[in-house]
Amino acid sequence: MTRIAIIGGGFSGASAAVQWARKVPQPLAITIFEPRAQLGHGLAYSTDNPTFRLNAHAGLHAIDVADPNHLIHWCETQRLSEHDPGAFAANGQAFLRRQDYGRYLADSVREHADWPATGSSITHRRLRVVDLHFAEGRAMLGLEDGSTQEADQVLLATGNPLPRRPEVLDAITPGHPHLRTNPLSEGLDGIPTDSRVLVIGAGLTALDMIAGLIERGHEGAIVAVSRHGLRPRSQPPPVFALPTAAANPPVQPLDVLEGPVPAYAEDNVLTVHTLLRGLRRDIRNIEATGRSWHAAFDALALVVSRIWPKLPLDEQRRFLRRLRPWYDVHRFRTPPMTEAVVLRAERAGQVAYRAALLKAIEGSEGGTFTAHFGHTKGRQARETFGAVINCAGLDSGDTVAGNPLLGALVDRGLILPHPNGVGFLTDPSCRALNALGQPRHNLRIIGPPTAGVFGDPLGALFISAQVHRTLPAFMEDLPPGS
Ligand SMILES: Cc1cc2nc3c(=O)[nH]c(=O)nc-3n(C[C@H](O)[C@H](O)[C@H](O)COP(=O)(O)OP(=O)(O)OC[C@H]3O[C@@H](n4cnc5c(N)ncnc54)[C@H](O)[C@@H]3O)c2cc1C
Repeated sequence: MTRIAIIGGGFSGASAAVQWARKVPQPLAITIFEPRAQLGHGLAYSTDNPTFRLNAHAGLHAIDVADPNHLIHWCETQRLSEHDPGAFAANGQAFLRRQDYGRYLADSVREHADWPATGSSITHRRLRVVDLHFAEGRAMLGLEDGSTQEADQVLLATGNPLPRRPEVLDAITPGHPHLRTNPLSEGLDGIPTDSRVLVIGAGLTALDMIAGLIERGHEGAIVAVSRHGLRPRSQPPPVFALPTAAANPPVQPLDVLEGPVPAYAEDNVLTVHTLLRGLRRDIRNIEATGRSWHAAFDALALVVSRIWPKLPLDEQRRFLRRLRPWYDVHRFRTPPMTEAVVLRAERAGQVAYRAALLKAIEGSEGGTFTAHFGHTKGRQARETFGAVINCAGLDSGDTVAGNPLLGALVDRGLILPHPNGVGFLTDPSCRALNALGQPRHNLRIIGPPTAGVFGDPLGALFISAQVHRTLPAFMEDLPPGS
């Protein structure tokens, strides 16, 4: 059997394993190396906080984009409507708890552990891969327990970068009981319910943390600070509209992902300005018909993997430097249930969002924090908080930090950082590129580390589609006769 090693068992590794086991006609012995206990959970779905929900509805989160009802069926067999009635928006779309979605992903991998239709198998080894080299066409993986394992094909699915740690936190002694530098892994327990909380950032993680605090009975004030004051937008009425959601027969996600790009993005070479002008015009046209901006934005966002590569490097850098925060708040929208919790608290005066520059934070001996703000109008202010939660986002400009394997692969020239500063270079079929720009036929990369190449392989829908799209090239690269 052809031996496939997948390094990283978050959504990306799980989705690749399941799609390959189902669709590659020859038998594959797939091993996923993942230190976490459960496959599919990764960074996003390891949480046990029931307040944290998916940021789009279940129809867009199947492990295999070509089988969009797979998750809906799982929800039915799990009787989700009884266990989590709060998951359903007014139009019936389900926004699952992230912990339930993690269970779905782990169940899905188990379902495919031995897949009779193709003879493939999926095995989980709870070990971190610390080394990788190639000899005579075969890969040799070095594992953290000192052992090695051979493979014919390797997939890097190492996922999200580490959370960004703003410099203002440097002055605070690490381990302060009321500081959360990485709240996704550290959780909210231990933050006094009457404390005044400073949340650094105003994106989806900030929204989650604010809702999480409120749901666990927080009574103190919560202030979320971000430089531009941008906040994730709401779902469109009614909740989410693939441009063709109302069509009959229903249009599936792949129809849209593989469908036409907007007319303004058809040229072979694009600029950020052209895209912005075209998008604004489409938004105006759509709004003139009484619909919301979402459909025009989604018409671009859903096909971005075919548009982003046509932006010259300088244009990509310009976008990442100037427009990324603006794009992100439209692209990563709020789960309606979480948004409702936070909006209620905002109206009650408990939660405030603020645009300000956080210049410094000092920790006092009494355990409080003093934050120094510079406001856009030149005013300075100093305020005291009882707790600080860092929600500054993930450090997409540093994919290697915290992952020695990736550092070693870069040093050895096996993978190349993208010159736009995000992730690593691949060909259109996700094969890693060598220093001569040639694709390696036995080393592939998917998911967030390919964001520099494809723009947005960040959400489950896009990652699953990436695996689907690159399936023919994957099959071509399998050893002959196996
Ligand atoms: C808080 C949060 C919420 C999100 N919510 C949504 C959402 O609602 N909907 C959506 O579509 N997307 C969401 N996303 C985007 C999410 O990142 C993707 O959906 C997807 O989970 C990415 O999966 P991944 O496997 O690429 O990365 P990760 O989840 O980061 O998983 C990578 C895995 O690789 C393992 N790994 C890394 N290095 C090694 C190594 N050397 N050896 C072995 N294992 C290794 C890690 O242990 C980790 O488990 C969210 C992201 C975050 C951070």
